[in-house]
Amino acid sequence: MKAEIIAVGSELLTPDRLDTNSLFLTEELNKIGIEVVRKTVVGDDHDLLSEAFRDALNRVPLVISSGGLGPTEDDLTRETVADLLGRKLRRNDDILRYIEGRFRALGRDMPQVNVRQAMVPEGAEILENPRGTAPGLWLEDGDRAIALLPGPPRELKPLFREQVLPRLERRASGVRMFSRELRVTGLGESHVEQRIVGIYKRYAEVNTTILAAPGETQIHLRMWTGDAEHAKKTLDEIVSGFAIALTDRIFSQNGSSLEEVIAEELTLHNATISAAESCTGGLLAQRLTSIAGSSSYFLGGLVCYSNELKTAWVGVPAELIQAKGAVSPEVAIALADGIRRRVGSTFGVGITGIAGPGGGSEEKPVGTVHIALSHAGGVKERGVRFPGDRENIRWQASQLALDMVRVHFLYNGKQLPTRA
Ligand code: AMP
Ligand code: MG
Repeated sequence: MKAEIIAVGSELLTPDRLDTNSLFLTEELNKIGIEVVRKTVVGDDHDLLSEAFRDALNRVPLVISSGGLGPTEDDLTRETVADLLGRKLRRNDDILRYIEGRFRALGRDMPQVNVRQAMVPEGAEILENPRGTAPGLWLEDGDRAIALLPGPPRELKPLFREQVLPRLERRASGVRMFSRELRVTGLGESHVEQRIVGIYKRYAEVNTTILAAPGETQIHLRMWTGDAEHAKKTLDEIVSGFAIALTDRIFSQNGSSLEEVIAEELTLHNATISAAESCTGGLLAQRLTSIAGSSSYFLGGLVCYSNELKTAWVGVPAELIQAKGAVSPEVAIALADGIRRRVGSTFGVGITGIAGPGGGSEEKPVGTVHIALSHAGGVKERGVRFPGDRENIRWQASQLALDMVRVHFLYNGKQLPTRA
């Protein structure tokens, strides 16, 4: 089943407030196989609101709104929907007594404006809201259903779970959402698209989205079906196709981050790692240690920013820096070898580069980064030029360093060393 969400409230169209209710609602709806195909944010305006509900009801059998059920003049959801469906509003005395009771419990009289919250469109079911004054409303019109929910998230969430979900489950069939999330690094969005478009286009029932994220590209596969076996078979088939098309570029098939993947590999192989970082300023160490239990594989790292400290701390020969420049394959290798030997780890990583915005030259433009991975069997070095700003370049450098570790394990260390 398909649904639309309408978030009502002029405050949601300002820079101060964000519609978060629809995120919660989408997650809950997806769990029971209802796909959200459109969301609308609309201000407290009768005509705009009416148009939003009318259009949504013309498109889908389920519309869920949040907000606009309060007692004030700008709360228009109830009246607008009643108008649209040609239903009269009637005062519900049970609700009125409940609202009066809430005020009395606080030692106050109910302001007259709150009577509005006791007005109910003909034929609507009341969704009791013990956490607030305004009840939610459930309306059915032919084979279409409408849920009007209060705006405050602490009222909307339990109300949805307790009263809307059971109604939806009765209506929905056994259709559920099945999904996969693949992560790819070292290939941009459009290259990924180019390689896999021929595969996913063959599966009309699967929704495929390709998302660019810093240093990686994510591929989301979603399909809605009542047949779990069919879903698994279809998604497996697509993922196998992607794995061939993208060769070794997929690092995760379950949404885990690159540092999580590396953590698993290092732990599995009883291996340790250390890092000597220049342009990333400790970002690699930060990412490696962001994972609980990292002390079992990460021995330590140094940020050696100046040439002097590259020599003093990691033993990079001053003449080498002089001859080749601090940003060079040779220095990256010396950093990686140096830190590995000093620390006694299985792997040593060396990173040196120009993160910008200043410091670039024609020969070594901003974005030039050299990364080396050293281990007992030799050293692998990669020189790249990353696009983007300083933060972007630093992130991509840490990503490539992690990826070099991953690839090392992938090929059991059998890849050819670039240079020794
Ligand atoms: P209302 O039911 O329109 O009176 O909404 C009351 C309050 O609920 C608003 O002032 C917001 O703080 C909150 N609210 C309304 N809509 C949303 C939404 N879509 N996401 C998050 N909070 C909301
Ligand atoms: Mg409002």
